[in-house]
Amino acid sequence: MKPVSYLRAHSVEEAAAAHGGRAEARYLGGGTNLVDLMKLGVDRPEVLVDVSRLPLDRVEERPDGSVWAGATVRNSDLAAHPLIRERHPLLSQAVLSGASGQLRNAATTGGNLLQRTRCAYFQDLSKPCNKRVPGSGCAAIEGVNHDHAVLGHSPHCVATNPSDLSVALSALDAVVELAGPGGGRNVPVTEFHRLPGDRPDLDTEIRPGELITGVLLPPLPEGAVCRYRKVRERASYAFALASVAAVLQVEDGEIRHAAVAFGGLAHRPWRARRTEAALLGARPGPDVFAQAVRAELDEAVPLRDNAYKVSLAQDLATQVLDSLTAPS
Ligand SMILES: Cc1cc2nc3c(=O)[nH]c(=O)nc-3n(C[C@H](O)[C@H](O)[C@H](O)COP(=O)(O)OP(=O)(O)OC[C@H]3O[C@@H](n4cnc5c(N)ncnc54)[C@H](O)[C@@H]3O)c2cc1C
Ligand code: SF4
Repeated sequence: MKPVSYLRAHSVEEAAAAHGGRAEARYLGGGTNLVDLMKLGVDRPEVLVDVSRLPLDRVEERPDGSVWAGATVRNSDLAAHPLIRERHPLLSQAVLSGASGQLRNAATTGGNLLQRTRCAYFQDLSKPCNKRVPGSGCAAIEGVNHDHAVLGHSPHCVATNPSDLSVALSALDAVVELAGPGGGRNVPVTEFHRLPGDRPDLDTEIRPGELITGVLLPPLPEGAVCRYRKVRERASYAFALASVAAVLQVEDGEIRHAAVAFGGLAHRPWRARRTEAALLGARPGPDVFAQAVRAELDEAVPLRDNAYKVSLAQDLATQVLDSLTAPS
């Protein structure tokens, strides 16, 4: 068994210093993903810096009406927090659609944003995987790829990002706050996760040793309505085959703000910019929604086993958008 040293950090500075940007160090949030990967031998850190007790476990309102959620807020607490439920019910719906109650009680905001892909080949040490061992190949491209990406994939990796929370944060134009050796910086969630390109070993734009300290959610436009819906193989405790987060604001019969993000379709939460462009200024209606969603999904390149995801996402997003504007 490989020895691992463990340190519980009590401040952001102590955590960053203990990590030091070293390749063999990992921050530990709730451990619900990292510890599983360590048990499988997929991740083999020598140093664990436990950040779960950092004083970043609050959700609070900022003077400009933004809501800040700390990196160590547990997923259950995030979903249940009154500010999130009232201002950003989409985020509550997304978090509650993921994992199980027990997992959500342990998992943190920061850890959820950085959880690794659920590609079965990534977790199987006997199979080639460019994400686990760069340059070794991709077993999924010619393998069983029913769960894999239909948008933005590359010949090096066709994995999807599994996080429901990240899809909601993407549609909400949230910003990830980072602290690190080079100081603090903010990265929009829409730019935080990467497409695989020729570096699928890199999931995000995070730099060595950087710690997520929180996420900032700007206020939604006045009167905006939102919804998260997810399709999975079981009614609970399963990752998304496809999911959609949508925010719409309609004024005087015209769509004035539209934000749509897909989960389960790509290596990162997929912000549907073509759909949004087609919706802006349009009058809401099922045909308009269907056409706008199609504008995005026409870009999809399905693999052997997953063409079903394109029609699934088409119907799901059209229905969600329609439900947001249908008279109640
Ligand atoms: C059976 C099962 C089903 C699941 N189903 C779903 C689902 O349907 N939808 C979904 O979204 N998720 C699902 N999950 C995943 C779960 O949500 C994640 O495991 C969890 O969110 C990870 O959070 P954590 O705090 O435990 O992260 P950890 O396991 O502690 O860490 C994950 C990664 O984040 C890094 N990290 C942690 N905190 C920080 C920080 N503050 N700054 C920088 N790096 C950090 C770690 O180094 C590690 O690389 C499921 C998990 C399981 C086991
Ligand atoms: S899809 Fe990506 S994660 Fe899965 S085997 Fe291929 S390279 Fe690895």
